[in-house]
Amino acid sequence: MKKKIHRDILVRFDSLPDVIEHGTINPVNACVNMHDVVKIIAPTQVTAFARYDPVEIIKYPHPTLRYQSKPLKRIDAALRETITEMFQLMYEAQGIGLAANQVDLPYRLFVLNIHEERSKEHEMVFINPVISKPKDPDEKEEGCLSLPGVYAPVRRPASIHLTALNLSGETIEGDFGGLLARAIQHETDHLDGILFIDRLADLVQKQLQDELDQFQKTHDANRSQNVIPPDEIIFDRLAAMESAYCV
Ligand SMILES: [Zn+2]
Repeated sequence: MKKKIHRDILVRFDSLPDVIEHGTINPVNACVNMHDVVKIIAPTQVTAFARYDPVEIIKYPHPTLRYQSKPLKRIDAALRETITEMFQLMYEAQGIGLAANQVDLPYRLFVLNIHEERSKEHEMVFINPVISKPKDPDEKEEGCLSLPGVYAPVRRPASIHLTALNLSGETIEGDFGGLLARAIQHETDHLDGILFIDRLADLVQKQLQDELDQFQKTHDANRSQNVIPPDEIIFDRLAAMESAYCV
């Protein structure tokens, strides 16, 4: 994906110590993305929290996928743009749903489009979702953009009641069934750090073990090459973003 760069300045992470020494940014407010790039709003000082562009969908077992997000307390233009990019990434990966922590963000929101057509009228944004009144257990195959190629049957309620906010801050409330109910539950699970593989029967989980081990190997290799930063950098960044946007 070609990354949009607005007025932000990009600095290689390995040059960060020099930048800090010259007093140009406050590292607490800096934002490190998956490509070890620090984004700064202004070249001489950080005046606000730098916007984070989601650049890719993170894969199992990235630690952010286990992050339990707190409710969002504000929606601004930067967040709207982030959400537009989430839809873009979801479409590129041919998915129907994407949760914020799948793009390494700590916000309690997810996006959905369960239709074939990529049109605005089918795009749904759910902020601070709360599921209640689960009914009628059902089993259907699921997959996940953070576990590409892995599919397995997952038992979930066939219908649910949902309360959430949309991007305009208006309340969405209603009973949902079918694919929409399943997608809402799958994505809300993500916001609690739960993956669909956690909900599989033991036997099914065992059958997937080789595939999961392969994801682990790729993750370990990315860690050793610093493509994925150490946990403390990831969690410091998530905490800083959370303090700017969440309750
Ligand atoms: Zn998923």
